[in-house]
Amino acid sequence: MKKILGAAAVCSMLLSTETFAQQHRHKCGATDVEKAMEVAHPGYLQAVKTAFLKAKQNAAFKEAQRSNAPDTVYRIRTVVHVVYTKPEENLDDSIILSQIDVLNEDYRRRNADTVNTRSVFQEFAADAGIEFFLADTDPDGNPTTGITHTQGSPPPSIFGGFGANDEVKSQSTGGVNAWPTDRYFNIWVCDIMGGLGVLGYAYPPAAPLPNWGSQNPNADSSKQGVVLYYKAVGRNNPYAIDSTVNGGRSATHEAGHYFGLRHIWGDDQSFLGPGNKCAGDQGGGEDGIDDTPDAKDASQQTCDTTKNTCPDPNMLQDYPDMVENYMDYSSDDCLNMFTNGQVALMREVIRLYRPGIAEKVPNVAASIKQVRYAADVKISPNPAKNEIWVEVPANESNVSIQILSVEGKLVQTVQTSIARTNINVAGLQQGVYFLAVGN
Ligand code: ZN
Ligand code: CA
Repeated sequence: MKKILGAAAVCSMLLSTETFAQQHRHKCGATDVEKAMEVAHPGYLQAVKTAFLKAKQNAAFKEAQRSNAPDTVYRIRTVVHVVYTKPEENLDDSIILSQIDVLNEDYRRRNADTVNTRSVFQEFAADAGIEFFLADTDPDGNPTTGITHTQGSPPPSIFGGFGANDEVKSQSTGGVNAWPTDRYFNIWVCDIMGGLGVLGYAYPPAAPLPNWGSQNPNADSSKQGVVLYYKAVGRNNPYAIDSTVNGGRSATHEAGHYFGLRHIWGDDQSFLGPGNKCAGDQGGGEDGIDDTPDAKDASQQTCDTTKNTCPDPNMLQDYPDMVENYMDYSSDDCLNMFTNGQVALMREVIRLYRPGIAEKVPNVAASIKQVRYAADVKISPNPAKNEIWVEVPANESNVSIQILSVEGKLVQTVQTSIARTNINVAGLQQGVYFLAVGN
């Protein structure tokens, strides 16, 4: 029993200290909040499944067509709501910034620990081509840091803090309302149930339901986003629970749910259709992703690379459990990868269901395979006012010249096959720019 929602589950927790100990390892409440949503809105789980399968169908097609590095980067407009009742819960902005760094590394596969991905899984590991930036404009059009700090007043509970049932997402229950979820990726940071064990939760996208109980077929829109336990945020958090949860990977995991991913052990086997995919004590089901090996159950904040709970009849060989996958429950220092299949699914979910939160920019590193050294390229005049000449070695053809801002945003691209190319830069704002030249 590791359920946290529902009166019966709460009772059983209070009766047994052993269950308490297990609760601490219950990393994520996503499956539980989905079940609660199903109770409130019958048909919800089917709507989640419908949304998943549609994205999966498209993703599988696109995956077959693309190379490993995505051509487009989705930059996710993010707002973080820090909602506190005690001073220590009012996390400093530096901790939020650290969390954004972790997300950006993990979703671009620029994390330092990619070297820890076992060789058997290296070919599966993928750059998701997703980046996160703190919003600079609030819903009213005013400048913002993208971080809000609010003293909350959660409903009284025996656990303390906010419940795991979206109390933090509404002013009416002592929390902070979402910024429009069709334009912002909302993250709430708060105490969840006094630290009883839920480190975070998130809802996947669901197909519209006729029975939401309001006029709005997307009545869950005010709930879209990620909730994080404040002690599991960032990797410079002075209140971090312990060394297994101090790497900021709870956010990586929950954002994965928000982008439609299931746990790699699949939770309920009934969720994604027929077939007993190595059933275990946690349901042992199917995550719907073809390149994550089957697993019977979750890792328990460890890094057990000998774990191999299931055969993999649908893959080329029997693989061990992919304990380094962000959608497992391994310790933060064990998690280091998404797979190609997961990446394809997440990107399709953004395109289909969450398009308004993302700015699309070209993936510069992907479009230029071979960058010329500065010595091979001459730029004149420099500095320039209206135009520049870019000279490359004479025998080059199909050379791509990209002008980038200091933030790395692509400003202008010129394709050329001549040695000396003239580029008009009169329209650029005054500043420093980088040129990426290659083919
Ligand atoms: Zn989860
Ligand atoms: Ca296996």
